[in-house]
Amino acid sequence: MSHKTDVVVIGAGPVSLFAVFELGLLNLKCHLIDNLDKIGGQCAELYPEKPVYDIPSRTRITGEELIGELMLQAKPFEPVFHLNQQADSIEKVGDEWKLTTSSNTVIQARCIVIAAGAGSFVPRRPPIKNIELFENTSVFYSVRDKSKFKDKKILIVGGGDSALDWTNDLASIADVTLMHRRKEFRASPDSVTKMLELEKNNKIKFVYGQLDSLSGNEKILNAVKYKHEDEEFSIEVDYLLPFFGLKMELGPIANWGINLHENLIKVDTEKFETSVPSIFAIGDINTYPGKLKLILSGFHESALMAQKCFAYCYPDKKNVFRYTTSSKDLHKKLGV
Ligand SMILES: Cc1cc2nc3c(=O)[nH]c(=O)nc-3n(C[C@H](O)[C@H](O)[C@H](O)COP(=O)(O)OP(=O)(O)OC[C@H]3O[C@@H](n4cnc5c(N)ncnc54)[C@H](O)[C@@H]3O)c2cc1C
Repeated sequence: MSHKTDVVVIGAGPVSLFAVFELGLLNLKCHLIDNLDKIGGQCAELYPEKPVYDIPSRTRITGEELIGELMLQAKPFEPVFHLNQQADSIEKVGDEWKLTTSSNTVIQARCIVIAAGAGSFVPRRPPIKNIELFENTSVFYSVRDKSKFKDKKILIVGGGDSALDWTNDLASIADVTLMHRRKEFRASPDSVTKMLELEKNNKIKFVYGQLDSLSGNEKILNAVKYKHEDEEFSIEVDYLLPFFGLKMELGPIANWGINLHENLIKVDTEKFETSVPSIFAIGDINTYPGKLKLILSGFHESALMAQKCFAYCYPDKKNVFRYTTSSKDLHKKLGV
């Protein structure tokens, strides 16, 4: 898939969503890319139900509510989202950038805005030799197409929400075994109760253990060895789904030739531009003297970044600064 836009934004966290609004005020269109399967960055992934108290004029708003409000604010500017994919590589084509994602989506734009937070959320791999040989054929860290698992032998490993939710969900279509070190779980009490009920009714199996090694032919897994209290066991499986949580990695951006400082992107504080002209960095991913990793800092950075993007996208036009209270153009877009 190939697309053309004014600005491509890496990340779909709170700062990116506000950037869509600020860029939209200046008639700049955006495409956004996120590795996660949902919009909202840390707010949605790490603390959807926690209240935040330092968003100006909101005395209290949960992570999820904040993302909902930011989406409403961005909506009139018609952002296009490309989820479940990582921004992988960039190439300069004339004045523009051509960005390619891990799903081979190609987006051409005049400016790139990196709002990648602490990096991509990526799954933690179990520490087993050769696991990468089976990844994406027999080992999956997320479920995108349930039908693949129909009538198969599935081993799910972990004790958090993802492990228990998928155990409960896949129990009706597959032969599911859940493995965890102990019978105490970090998942929500409702999911734990449901899983224990399924086990009692022999709809799933539960085993104590820790993964040890994988065996199979080529990329196809056929058995998993695991250990419990110094004893070794083996289980026949078609698919392994380890849910060991997510970690954050700067990933491919580190190889784009941009000046970094301790895995953060150095920017100026006038335009929040990086060492590479027309590539900007806003939000938690950037660093400058006095930087505070707060959502409100990212909002301010978005407003200044947008001014410079306008200059790149419309070099012959003068940007007339207008308050939103008196911008007739904006009122038309918002339908007010
Ligand atoms: C528990 C907790 C409580 C917090 N409380 C507050 C608070 O009260 N007030 C406050 O102001 N801040 C708070 N924060 C911090 C706040 O959440 C961050 O400052 C904010 O999320 C930064 O937003 P962002 O858009 O820059 O990045 P993020 O929210 O981190 O979003 C970045 C997104 O970019 C994606 N991404 C990264 N690299 C790539 C790539 N190569 N390709 C595709 N996608 C990529 C990631 O998957 C992620 O979704 C809190 C943080 C935590 C963890």
